[in-house]
Order: sequence, then C-alpha cells, then structure tokens
Amino acid sequence: MYRNESLLWQSVRVKITMQDSFNMAPVAVIHSPYKEKFAIPRQPNLVSAAHGKIELLLDCNQSELIRDLEQHSHLWLLFVFHGTIERGWKPLVKAPRLGGNKKTGVFATRSTHRPNPIGMSVVKLEGISRINDNLAIDISGLDLLDGTPIIDIKPYIPYSDVVVDASSQMAPDAQSSSLTINFSDSALQQLAPLTTQYPQLQTFIEQVLSQDPRPAYRKKSNDTQEYGMSLYDLNIRWQIQGNDCMVLSISQ
Ligand code: SAH
Repeated sequence: MYRNESLLWQSVRVKITMQDSFNMAPVAVIHSPYKEKFAIPRQPNLVSAAHGKIELLLDCNQSELIRDLEQHSHLWLLFVFHGTIERGWKPLVKAPRLGGNKKTGVFATRSTHRPNPIGMSVVKLEGISRINDNLAIDISGLDLLDGTPIIDIKPYIPYSDVVVDASSQMAPDAQSSSLTINFSDSALQQLAPLTTQYPQLQTFIEQVLSQDPRPAYRKKSNDTQEYGMSLYDLNIRWQIQGNDCMVLSISQ
C-alpha cells in the first residue's frame, strides 16, 4: 500500500513540473477609499464603514456571472497584491504580530510578500450597481488598496468557512488599540459639508484610527508626530498623545 502511495505522489509532482505556470487575467478591479497602503486595516471586517465597489471587466462584465450572487451575505475575494509585487518575497518575514525583529515563515503569515502575490479577503455584499457601462458589486469591510486586480470572486459559505474550533496562537484576536478618537473643532467644521457625499465619513475615520495605523516602533515611544492618511480624495491629519487621538484636519 505504501509503495502505491509514493508512486501516486511522484506522478503528481511530475505533472506539476510540466505545467508550472498559469495565466490569469483580472475579472474585476476594486474601487476603494484606501488610496495608499498606510492606514489600511490589517484584515477585512475590522473597519465595517469602509465601502467600495468591485467593477467587473471585459468578458466578466455580464449580468450572468453574478446571477443569484445576492443570495449570499459575504464574498471571498482573491486578488493580486499589485502594490507590493515589485518588492518580491523572502522565505522568512517579520510578522507585525510578533512585534520586534522575530521572523517567521511566509506561509505562516498573511504577509503581502509571497511567492505568488495572492491575497484573500471576506467582504460584506451590499448590493449591485454600475460604474458607467460596467456592472459593479457594492461591498463593505474591505482591506484592499484602490485599483487592486481581482482574480476571483466566490461566495462565503458559513457551514464550511466558519470553523468554530479553529485557533491561532500567533493572532488570537483582532488586537484593537485603546485609543479614544476626538475631532478638533476645525476638523468637525471641515467634516460637516462632506457628509452629503460621504454619509459615514466620521465613523469611517474613527474606525480606521482605532486600529492605530502607526508602525509598531512608534506606538512604544512618546510619539508627538503628526500623521496623514488619504481616504477617498481627502487628506486626514491627526496626532496621538497617550491614548488620545485627535483628528486635526480634513482637507480635499
Ligand atoms: N486579507 C488579505 C490581506 C492581508 S494583508 C489576506 O489575508 O490575504 C493586509 C494588508 O494588505 C493591508 O494592510 C494593505 O496594506 C495590504 N494591501 C491591500 N491591498 C493591497 C494591494 N493591492 N497591494 C499591496 N498591498 C495591499
């Protein structure tokens, strides 16, 4: 029996060496409020007020491909880490979860620097809309950079995708910060006229900043630096003192 098994594995290996690359074209592209990597949450669903659109492309821009999609509340997105692809990969990475300088195997992490730069995220399905001539899937809770190429979309199937007894010693919980988010008077004044276009903007900014996007080494020190991030077409500036985070300005 063992002999047969090893023969079987051998044949699989040979077949894979013969066909060692696959061509895949994007099926869709993401329109995301996150215009740069800084401040994007580390995983999906940490920032529920993040709203985006998946625009179907070319051959995939047909209503047939998304027929019955709305029978599912959530979707799996498989995508290419196009923003970091040029930096290549290494077998060992510094996982943010491990704090300092300890390295761990790339396959033991969700690092963006992987042999095949493929990411996966579960997002909430909000509805179907259009962007000009193209169909779009409205989503929320995303952790994707604007312009991310999507290579596949699949329904999230709770009976199988939820593993109730699963555990991760490396990342046991969402690890939210204890920051309190406040807005300066001038930031509130700047926010007011923007709420017509972005009704959830204040909650969105609060949720993003609650994740404390600063690099780990900054969180430890007495940090007085002013930070900036881009959400939609807005530049948001803030500063942290102890556990208080103050949004200083919101400008276009
Ligand atoms: N949920 C995904 C992503 C985890 S890494 C997965 O597990 O595969 C999350 C980080 O990916 C975010 O903080 C963001 O900075 C980065 N990211 C998102 N979209 C990206 C893109 N298109 N290119 C490069 N990095 C991206």
